[in-house]
Formats: sequence, structure tokens, C-alpha cells
Amino acid sequence: DAFNDDECDYLFKAVLIGDSGVGKSNLLSRFSRNEFRLDSKPTIGVEFAYRNIRVGDKLIKAQIWDTAGQERFRAITSSYYRGALGAMLVYDLTRRATFDNLMKWLEELRRFCNSDMVVVLVGNKSDLVQKREVEEEEGRSLAEKEGLCFMETSALENLNVEEAFLEMVTKIYDITS
Ligand code: GDP
Ligand code: MG
Repeated sequence: DAFNDDECDYLFKAVLIGDSGVGKSNLLSRFSRNEFRLDSKPTIGVEFAYRNIRVGDKLIKAQIWDTAGQERFRAITSSYYRGALGAMLVYDLTRRATFDNLMKWLEELRRFCNSDMVVVLVGNKSDLVQKREVEEEEGRSLAEKEGLCFMETSALENLNVEEAFLEMVTKIYDITS
């Protein structure tokens, strides 16, 4: 739901989804705090992060939810998705299996969320050039087929991270306003 906040014109909830280890938590920490962690610590405690974003003359508070590792057990519940207007669906472009699982994630999204939800498909870890298993074109064509936005990112090198979140927030704004 979008509603007013003290300083903000809108509050948008968006969720991060995708297989374990694809870089969801690092994308979020990069976007919200400009931080990156090399070790893979499952998210503990932090449920979501905020960032204020200006779109035109509006101030939008983006509330981005991260899983606490439940995705490992396919145990994300409907409350995680409740009220979300956007989703960032992340795969690891160095692990083909995480790309092959995308349809399962899309089915889950479509079961729990509105059909007009903004979904940005993100192929993360573009810095690992030698380890790439999924070509950019494959991501792009899946996104086209499923009607998603698409971007390759590197949370490590801070490539396209800002752009991917901004695209999601801007698209949500376009739909809700
Ligand atoms: P999550 O399980 O989806 O939340 O994934 P994490 O954010 O915990 O990241 C899993 C592992 O991948 C960690 O070791 C991160 O340091 C690493 N990682 C995340 N993003 C990138 C990236 O863009 N490039 C590289 N090389 N490693 C990354
Ligand atoms: Mg995580």
C-alpha cells in the first residue's frame, strides 16, 4: 500500500526474492547503506531497509524487505509479500540453477501478489566475468517473455545497483500515481 508519511509523499513496499546466495542481502545493503560483505552471513535481525528517493517533485520512501534465509527452505510466507508493490527477483549469473529456478519464483509471486506488481529481474555478480554461466541475452529474453524489467548488477562493484532499485521505484510510482 502507498500512504503518506511525515516527510514523504509515498511509502512503497518492495520485496527481494530469489535463491539463497544470489546476493539479495548485499544488493540491499549496497543500496541502503553502500556496504558490501564478502562473507555470506544469512540475514539476521534486519527485516527491511529504507531509502528515500526523489522522483520528480515527490519524495518516496522505499521500504525494501529482505528474507531472513527462509528462501533456503522455500518457506517464504504470504505475510512477506503482503502489500508489496514491487519485487526484485534475483539470480546469480554464475550459477545456472538459480536462473532455472526463476519460474518457480514467478509462480509464487503470481500466487501471492497483484498482477500489476512491478518485477525487476536482476542477474547479479556481473563482476565474475570468468564464471558466467548465464548470458545477458538469456536474462533479457526471459524478462521480455514474462513482462519484467531486466538488469545485470554487481553488488560487489556497485554496478547498476542504484539503477535497478530506482527503476523499480519509478515504475511503481508511474503505476500508482
Ligand atoms: P543472499 O543469500 O541472496 O542474501 O546472498 P548474499 O547477499 O548473502 O550473498 C551471498 C554471497 O555472494 C556472499 O558471499 C556475497 O559476498 C557474494 N556476493 C553478493 N553479491 C555479489 C556480487 O555482486 N559479486 C560477487 N563477486 N559476489 C557477490
Ligand atoms: Mg540474504
